[in-house]
Amino acid sequence: MSIISKSLDKIKPSPTLQVTQKARELRAAGKDIIGLGAGEPDFDTPENIKQAAIKAINTGQTKYTTVDGIPSLKEAIQTKFKRENDLNYTLEQITVGTGAKQVLYNALVSTLNNLDEVIIPAPYWVSYPDMTLLAGGIPRIVSTRQNNNFKITPKELESAITKKTKWIILNSPSNPTGMCYSNDELLKLSKVLLDYPNIWVMTDDIYEHIIYDEKKFSTIASVENKLYNRTLTINGVSKAYAMTGWRIGYAGGPKDLIKAIAKVQSQSTSNPTSISQYAAIEALTGSQDFIKNTVNEFRVRRDFVVNKINKISGLSCKIPNGAFYIYVNCKDCIKKKTKGGKLINSDSDFVSSMLEEANVAAVQGLAFGMEPYFRISYATSHDLLVKAMGRIEEFCNNLS
Ligand code: PLP
Repeated sequence: MSIISKSLDKIKPSPTLQVTQKARELRAAGKDIIGLGAGEPDFDTPENIKQAAIKAINTGQTKYTTVDGIPSLKEAIQTKFKRENDLNYTLEQITVGTGAKQVLYNALVSTLNNLDEVIIPAPYWVSYPDMTLLAGGIPRIVSTRQNNNFKITPKELESAITKKTKWIILNSPSNPTGMCYSNDELLKLSKVLLDYPNIWVMTDDIYEHIIYDEKKFSTIASVENKLYNRTLTINGVSKAYAMTGWRIGYAGGPKDLIKAIAKVQSQSTSNPTSISQYAAIEALTGSQDFIKNTVNEFRVRRDFVVNKINKISGLSCKIPNGAFYIYVNCKDCIKKKTKGGKLINSDSDFVSSMLEEANVAAVQGLAFGMEPYFRISYATSHDLLVKAMGRIEEFCNNLS
């Protein structure tokens, strides 16, 4: 009899973390691997934020804190929500966790009853379905269409709704597609949701600041005020401030839900790291120039990669509006043979052959719930991107 819980049979380890790990291992074994799998900015955390953390250590802010965040961080988050999203939350409506990931997970654990359904548009961030399953819910995956920029339409949303639907998860700009919902698109989705008062919205806004081409970021609770009382607006400092390792995420939402999230946290991890909380205050209240500079750099890389991909035989992609990913369509490479003699039957085969034969790591579309695609992260230096694109081109040119 296995010691491992049956509930773990339903889930898989994070495929993106697995790809990163595999690339790391191959590199350690001496292979010249270029990793385009990772979901984190390659920039260093800004100096002012590091200094705030050092100051926190030196002034003894190294003990347990309030379970779901110190009041001064909650105040900084409150101001951020008001300033950037026109959302008003009291401090009791704000929670801080160990990354947006923990906030999402705690929210699902504290709300799902057995077999409640969660609508998840695909392609999706890899963790949503597995977190739902772990929390005892049922992911209801809704495939979107590439020609609608991978965004769920009001009609698709409505046809996925059942009596058991508890949540819909929205993620804009999206991981893995980089696509972004406009104000008008959110308004149209809201219209459907207003007819179903028992459905809640979890909006994952972690890529809010990484947005291009003068696109305006919108979040559903401020687009449709009538949904404010049943929306959890999730965000964090990981992506905007290159702080993935610091592990600070947060959310604003109705008081009862926020209290329930804190309850789960109080019996699992307790507070997010005290030092990181002080660093996050500086991130949210200090100079925001870092964001402007990095977004400019990301945009240059996006343009380069999109251009290159669309010139490679067998591959194509849309121009993403945000985040730092490109979701590449590889359907014209399926059923072809690699130079090394491997038959490509799926995007997983494509990605593993590309790693073996071209030394480039990317993540298969299967992991994000829509095939045949693969995800490239361009959060790496321009020089490496040039090299990687050359290798991918050669790999594709050698397919027959
Ligand atoms: N949500 C999405 C869509 C992500 O891509 C990620 C990280 O990859 C997260 C949440 C997790 O963010 P955090 O580092 O705050 O846990």
